[in-house]
Amino acid sequence: MQTTLITDLTVREICEGFVYNQLEGKGLNGWGGKLIIQPEYQRNYLYLENDGKKEMAVIDSMLKDYPIGLIYFNKSEENKYEVLDGQQRITSIGRFVTGKFAIKDKFGMEQNFTGLNREEQEKILNYRLLVYVCNGTESEIKEWFETINIAGVPLNKQELLNATHSGPFVTLAKSTFSNSRNPQLQKWSSYVKGNANRQDILHTALVWVAKGEDNIGGYMSQHRYENSIEELKTYFDTVIEWAKMLFGSPKDEMRGLEWGELYEKYHSNSYNPAWLQQRVNELYADEAVTNKRGVFEYLLGGETDQHLLNIRIFEESVKKTVYARQTNEAREQGISNCPECAKGHENVRTKIYKFNEMDADHVSAWSKGGATDISNCQMLCKTHNRMKGNR
Ligand SMILES: [Zn+2]
Repeated sequence: MQTTLITDLTVREICEGFVYNQLEGKGLNGWGGKLIIQPEYQRNYLYLENDGKKEMAVIDSMLKDYPIGLIYFNKSEENKYEVLDGQQRITSIGRFVTGKFAIKDKFGMEQNFTGLNREEQEKILNYRLLVYVCNGTESEIKEWFETINIAGVPLNKQELLNATHSGPFVTLAKSTFSNSRNPQLQKWSSYVKGNANRQDILHTALVWVAKGEDNIGGYMSQHRYENSIEELKTYFDTVIEWAKMLFGSPKDEMRGLEWGELYEKYHSNSYNPAWLQQRVNELYADEAVTNKRGVFEYLLGGETDQHLLNIRIFEESVKKTVYARQTNEAREQGISNCPECAKGHENVRTKIYKFNEMDADHVSAWSKGGATDISNCQMLCKTHNRMKGNR
């Protein structure tokens, strides 16, 4: 049993001699007679359902240069192939190129293949399909099909990218980042989430070096035929060493943080690692900090953005108790129930706010050690609470 990945088969070649049987509703042959598109055991053509939305989507993807996924052929004899998986997509392509249906262009106008401009026609004809060809006995093929479980476990994004950009770069990158026996994997997994076999580590390394998910395809295509992954590897190691140097022994919450992004944003600042690590421990011990994962960026950013920590707020019952007490006292004294307003201008000095017009405030700020309990809670009108928050 052999499998071979073909990456240079074009739509032009596949559609050579394409025959669609209207009566039986199936694509019959293609690739100059070498390919049986719909062997007897296959399902009929289903992409016509829903007014042909699916077959239009195939063409649309191609025009936008999106991948349409892996296709599997079985090599039945010399120069004879059958489609194992992908007959719906191939039939869509063949039907479109032979003028069996139209797509809607960006102005909402229906266009069949010959109505497209020359450039778009060429784009479709030169579109390259990714085809796995397998060659073996019927039982081998069946077993293989079950193993890769095409219908059950679809390829994830990185697996698909690897197939699309296959070449020396991907081979080298996989031998480093997708190798579950790489001794460095344990260190990496303190910072990176996921499964090496499913390409999660490689995916993260690429996100980091390419500066974002959306740039991976471009990066892989640019380096596709290179025999070195030096840049990828060096960048990945640099980011992890930086995190390790600053924060010391890893904590669970560090796993899966956007370390690449943090590195880009903060690596030119200087920090005192001993102080950072002490602050991590203090913040971890602080019950008011409900988002431990935010601690690292909070510290890197100079302890300014408290939103990252999701500081625990006062409970509703505490707020109501404090509101009632403040409001009663204010009525007795004929002043506003917002202590800040009570010191202020004529028009708000005696204003009594409703409960939902006020917010709870730490009298002594959380960052200065103030607790989140009733002894440290006061109600302020929304305006004053916001003003205090911004200080
Ligand atoms: Zn006020």
